[in-house]
Amino acid sequence: MKRGLRVGDAPELWNLERPDEILDVQRAYVEAGAQILLTNTFGGNRLKLRRAGMEDRLEEVNRKAAEIARRASGGRALVAGDIGPTGEFMEPYGSFSEEDFYRVFREQAEVLASSGVDLFVIETMTDVGEVKAAIRACRELGLPVAASMSFDPAGDDFRTMMGVRPEEAAKCIDEAGADLVGANCGGVSPEEMAQVVGRMREATKRPLFAEPNAGKPELVDGKAVYRLSPEAFVEGMRKVAEAGARGLGGCCGTTPEHIRLLVRELG
Ligand SMILES: [Zn+2]
Repeated sequence: MKRGLRVGDAPELWNLERPDEILDVQRAYVEAGAQILLTNTFGGNRLKLRRAGMEDRLEEVNRKAAEIARRASGGRALVAGDIGPTGEFMEPYGSFSEEDFYRVFREQAEVLASSGVDLFVIETMTDVGEVKAAIRACRELGLPVAASMSFDPAGDDFRTMMGVRPEEAAKCIDEAGADLVGANCGGVSPEEMAQVVGRMREATKRPLFAEPNAGKPELVDGKAVYRLSPEAFVEGMRKVAEAGARGLGGCCGTTPEHIRLLVRELG
């Protein structure tokens, strides 16, 4: 967004129209020491692209994103095909079945797999049925799969937007067959993410990963802003690691400086 992406624009369009900007951003994270780089395909599924008026460019968008990430990595980082939510609801809240979602994810995952990604990262999920559909679609393509859900504080508990607790999420992701189980984004600070991870730890034996935001979102002029400094972020990440996460990363608002310090202190 610092480079001029406007609120409401599909970030995936930049894979086609401003590929050098995406390459630059991704290179900055590789330079910072990131070992896994995510493709710019969070909204690259058919349902999301349809709303952005880009449904007919699905294959092109995902293929190009994988190509950019592979170039940015230059072999120094693994490239993960990034899969985000459809933005739609399953029955009874919406009109889609788990099978519909499965087909949507499978279509995107096939393009990413055939474009040479090393693994999949399914992230920011809030619904059990949706994350299961995504894991199944990715697993069938024979690559490692990491899957994470997104939590908000709820009294003295944590829940996804659809009401799922950390233990339930970990159990569901584990049983669906993902290789890594995680949490990312949402309304939690890194310290609260450590509590989420601690609760997931009790529900699965699979390796855990966590990618919190750079602090809690603050709304400024209708935009979410994340202000936690790299130092404070890494202090929180120390607790996330102590709580049992082996894979550490950053979601919204985490700059290359956040990742550089994370790698230096905890890598
Ligand atoms: Zn995020």
